Parts: sequence; structure tokens; C-alpha cells
Amino acid sequence: MNADHPFALLGLAPELLNAVADLGFTTPTAVQSQAIPLALHDPDAHTQNDLMVSSQTGSGKTAAFLLPVLHTLLSQQQAKLAEEQRRWAEQVAAAEAAGEPLPKRARRKDPTNPRHFKPTVPGALVLCPTRELAQQVAHDAIDLVKHCKGLRIACVVGGLPYAVQIARLQNADLVVATPGRLLDLQRSNHLQLDQVQFLVVDEADRMLDLGFSDDLAEIHRLTERRRQTLMFSATFAPRIQQLAARIMRQPRRVQIDTPQEKHSSIKQVMFWADNPSHKRQLLDHWLRDTSIDQAIV
Ligand code: AMP
Repeated sequence: MNADHPFALLGLAPELLNAVADLGFTTPTAVQSQAIPLALHDPDAHTQNDLMVSSQTGSGKTAAFLLPVLHTLLSQQQAKLAEEQRRWAEQVAAAEAAGEPLPKRARRKDPTNPRHFKPTVPGALVLCPTRELAQQVAHDAIDLVKHCKGLRIACVVGGLPYAVQIARLQNADLVVATPGRLLDLQRSNHLQLDQVQFLVVDEADRMLDLGFSDDLAEIHRLTERRRQTLMFSATFAPRIQQLAARIMRQPRRVQIDTPQEKHSSIKQVMFWADNPSHKRQLLDHWLRDTSIDQAIV
């Protein structure tokens, strides 16, 4: 992907741009071109913006939150790796200078061995209201990290056997979850949430509809040290704004106007009635019109 490609202009890492190209995305959707730069960096501030985004399913919202979060996780991981390599080179140089045997690299422990069990400590958490949505989001995330060496995605949803879930969770950097199962695994110490830097609440309106308000409050408390919260919702209804006020710091709003779908086979007409009696007469007239097959009044 070349530097003036529409996605490259958003400032994303080359590994992610390659994945976007593999997926065949040529131009960012409206929600992506507005939310990604805001989520990545605010030139006026040293922290990252909290965002409240109104967008519908099908708008490309999943990549709009996954790409900036993965971008930061990736650059942190690359910085950590470079630092480890620098330290290693220093140790080797010091050993050579002192004529000592070269240090041995620590061997990776087999994570499937229960004796080496360590709770998973993700850097990013995406909450979804349903198992199907969580699986879809995790699937999209796996596609997007295809070229990122060592960034691991896990999906935590109800209905999977615990042993399978725990095995798949090991060393995950980004966890996509439904709230109930996530809290189960946190309480049983398979998962630690205090290092979460990025919290995404996807379909916040459905989350409240499904009664996850208390779970959200608990997850908000457990991830209190995070640096960014991104909330996506179909609407900014008052209850969503109340939730935003509870879990976000002065969020920037991104409102995407979804163009009304036009159906060529549907004709919409408005008739003004002078008064209720006129309205009934009009209605009576249309109901008697046998040339109309289907109509909604
Ligand atoms: P979402 O709203 O996240 O459920 O995305 C809806 C669909 O749009 C998914 O199938 C995505 O793979 C696809 N999509 C997301 N972003 C783009 C893009 N920039 N260009 C083309 N398709 C996209």
C-alpha cells in the first residue's frame, strides 16, 4: 500500500495497512475516517481521547475501533522488543569484554503446562452484548493482526467449556468478550484486568437493553487505570449519555449520519388533512382504492 493511499493517510502501522489491503478495503468508511485519527492521537492533548461514536452495524465500525487500538498495542510491543534486544546486546557485549561465557537466553515456558499457568493480562478489552457479535469482532481482529507478529486475540463468550476457553485465553493482548463470562474468568483469576489500557464498549445501547449495566460498572471499576474508552452505539439516547458520563472523561463525539436507505419499489407520499373528519374521509378513500396492493398508513 503506498503512502498516499486513503488508509495510509490515517497514520496506521504498515502491518495493519497490509491486512486492510488483504481484506480488499480501499477507502475508509465515514466512521473510520472520522474515528481513527481521533482515537489515535489528539494533537492538543498528551492523553488519548475518549470517544462516543454513533454508528450502525454495516458502517465499518468494527475496524474503526480495532485499528487504532491494535496500532497502539503493536507500537508498544515493538518498542518493548527493541528495548529487550538493546539490553541483550549490552549483556553480550559486557560478557565479551570481561572474557566471560555469553549469557543464555531464557527458554519460553510451555504455556499449556498447568505448572506454568499465569493469568492472562490483556492490554485491550472489547465488550460486546452477544456471543455472536463477540465472535464476529474477534474474527475481524484476527484478520487485522495477520501481519503483526506476536499480537494475540482471544474471544471470551458463554457456552464454551471453561478448559477450552482458558487454553485459548493464554497470553492474549486483546480480549473480545461478553460481560458475564469475562467477569467469571476474572473472579476465578484466569484473567487480570488491571493492565487494560483500552476499553471498547460495542453496541452500548444493546448492552443496556440486555441488562449488562451492573457488569459494565464492575468492569469499569476493574479497568480504572485505562487510558482510553471508546463507546459505540446506534443512538445517543439519554441513557447512553448517562452511561458515557459514568465511564468516560469528556468524550469527543462522532456522529455518523446514516443515509436513509432508498428502495426504488417503495413510494412515500404525505397527504395533509384539514381536520380529523377530513383525515377519516381520505383514509376511507384510499382503503377503497383497489389499485393499491399494499400500503402502510
Ligand atoms: P461492521 O459495521 O464493522 O460490521 O462492518 C460491516 C462490513 O463492512 C464488514 O463485512 C467489513 O468487513 C466491511 N468493511 C469495513 N470497513 C470497510 C472498508 N473500509 N471498505 C470496505 N468494506 C469494509
